[in-house]
Amino acid sequence: MIADNLQRIKETINRCALRCQRNPEDIQLIAVSKTIPVSSMREALQHGQRTFGENYIQEAEQKWNELEGAIELHFIGHLQTNKAKIAARISSVIETVDSLRLAEALNKHLNVLGRNLKILIQVNIGNDPNKSGTVPEHVEELLRQIQLLPRIEVIGLMTIPPLSPDPEATRPWFKALRHLAEKMAAKGLFHDNRHVALSMGMSDDFKIAIEEGATMVRIGTALFGHRPVRA
Ligand SMILES: *Cc1c(COP(=O)(O)O)cnc(C)c1O
Repeated sequence: MIADNLQRIKETINRCALRCQRNPEDIQLIAVSKTIPVSSMREALQHGQRTFGENYIQEAEQKWNELEGAIELHFIGHLQTNKAKIAARISSVIETVDSLRLAEALNKHLNVLGRNLKILIQVNIGNDPNKSGTVPEHVEELLRQIQLLPRIEVIGLMTIPPLSPDPEATRPWFKALRHLAEKMAAKGLFHDNRHVALSMGMSDDFKIAIEEGATMVRIGTALFGHRPVRA
């Protein structure tokens, strides 16, 4: 089932990219595997899916230990500063950096590890008081501050738009994230200002996100089925 789902999602991504004159290779599928057993991740891995998104640091570390070397981990959950050390060690990309304090903690641990790390700034694009992420008005200042941290490479922006029963309603939020990224790139605030990553779009709205410029789509349910409820 996972193999079929993976195939279908990849075909949808390709079709959608071509329809809006984009190169399908510019869109990376992040398989969101929170609460999904390692056996299912192995199945996806066997069918060519190497990049996984995890939300909880202990779960991520445990899976990382079991699968080490084989996967690329994107950390996509809320990250507390006291968990920065583990996240810095096991992540290829941390998509959810939203404060200078967290970036500084990561930079400190990366110095010890002797490695650089790619991150995305999580933007609370809808100014939703219940959501994490930096509000759009503060993104520029945060980017300027993080530019001073030598171990951290900000490759782009990530967002989880306000929930809506109608996927089409998320389109303006995706557009807003792209416009914000373009503005910041024009000011030279990313690691590579000609190739800025935009992580947006999930199972229900990834097609719309691709139309609006997503370079990473984070897909869980459509790939692995409905998640078991977390204990
Ligand atoms: C769980 C989660 C996803 C995947 O959502 P689905 O609707 O299952 O595809 C994507 N992004 C984040 C940040 C998540 O927490």
